[in-house]
Amino acid sequence: MASLQRNPFLIAQHQFDTAADLLDLPSSIRAVLRVPQRELTVNFPVKMDNGSVKVFTGYRVQHNLGRGPVKGGIRYHPDVDINEVRALAMWMTWKCALVNIPYGGAKGGVIVDPKFLSISELERLTRRFATEISVLLGPEKDIPAPDMNTNAQVMAWIMDTISMHRGYTVPAVITGKPVNIGGSLGRVEATGRGVMLMVREAARRLNRPLDSLRIVVQGFGNVGSTAAHLLDQLGCKVVGISDATGGYYCGRGLDIAAMRTFTTQHSFRLLEGYDAPGVERISGTELLELDCDVLIPAALENQITDLNALRIQARMIVEGANGPTTPEADQILTERGVTIVPDILANAGGVIVSYFEWVQGLQEFFWHEEDVNDKLERIIVGAFDQVWTIAEERRLPLRTAAYLLAVERVAEANVTRGVYP
Ligand code: NAD
Repeated sequence: MASLQRNPFLIAQHQFDTAADLLDLPSSIRAVLRVPQRELTVNFPVKMDNGSVKVFTGYRVQHNLGRGPVKGGIRYHPDVDINEVRALAMWMTWKCALVNIPYGGAKGGVIVDPKFLSISELERLTRRFATEISVLLGPEKDIPAPDMNTNAQVMAWIMDTISMHRGYTVPAVITGKPVNIGGSLGRVEATGRGVMLMVREAARRLNRPLDSLRIVVQGFGNVGSTAAHLLDQLGCKVVGISDATGGYYCGRGLDIAAMRTFTTQHSFRLLEGYDAPGVERISGTELLELDCDVLIPAALENQITDLNALRIQARMIVEGANGPTTPEADQILTERGVTIVPDILANAGGVIVSYFEWVQGLQEFFWHEEDVNDKLERIIVGAFDQVWTIAEERRLPLRTAAYLLAVERVAEANVTRGVYP
């Protein structure tokens, strides 16, 4: 298994194979679902502020269209590569099926570190990338959303670009937009809210009172900072936080509100320079191994591996990020009795509310925030209950139980539709 470790797509295929074996999936449907249906690579020029032209590479991968239009975020990061995008697209297919929303999975990415772009360079890069992949996009075809280093403003530029091509406004071509142009109330917080709900539900099943939980969060962006904030409000003690600049620890609990305010005043919402009485600076590696009850990875893939799994002290891991745990680490932690709420369930809050945003856009009828949050809670807690029951009945880890439910739904949809022509 060691060779899987750094290739997210091989990891995604390995996770799929485990479920396919247990489901006894016929080889024909297995072959269809093991690979992405469509992949587009684009190399495109962008005018930089100094007058030069730079060529960037980006991808849009559609894993499976069997259950409906495809859905998945767009990531800007220097480490983006085709195998990462393929894995993220496949995970989106399972995630949408698990929470039973009518989408297939997709993902996009551009190899870029936006820290080194001005705001106008970022806008030109976004509009040109959207144009290059526009052959794939549309409310009934493929609907992107935010991911690492992309936000509501980037979504607004994509919506505007596609609308300019069409000659009329197409709000439902993208989700995670600002509310003033058709975004949904509750979307910004949705993924973190889902993570909070999954911590709450897992704690309930494990008979752990919320106010006894010490929480550590890796990543303090959209997902991590919202999850930390909502768990803090729920009475949990958030003792450790990290971002790309390193870790911050306080045994009696960090002041999450102050840390969130700090990041809004600093470039790229980083914690660099944050200081407060009792707060200790630690490394990102140390953070993952802190003495705590719940660990929430909410940054990148491959953070919990065979190299650190034995030193992880948390008894519960709730995966805010996609693919943070390698299969080797999964096995070690499962043998140690650690409860892992898998990514395709734990971070599904974002795509659930993206679905609500798409529905609202198509109907041009907008909901109150309480309606959004109530419906989100009903869907994600319902999926958690189903996964927990399968895991208990079949004595399986939650990840395998979630995959069984999701892969079976996707396989059934594809078999029902048949092979064209
Ligand atoms: P973001 O860009 O808003 O935040 C990412 C955070 O991770 C930042 O705080 C960054 O400083 C930090 N980070 C980067 N490298 C790090 C490192 N080596 N160690 C510690 N922290 C590091 O991104 P996001 O939208 O919060 O996404 C985070 C994860 O959640 C990704 O895996 C993404 O795919 C997943 N996710 C996001 C959404 C969503 O709605 N945004 C939905 C589902 C899943």
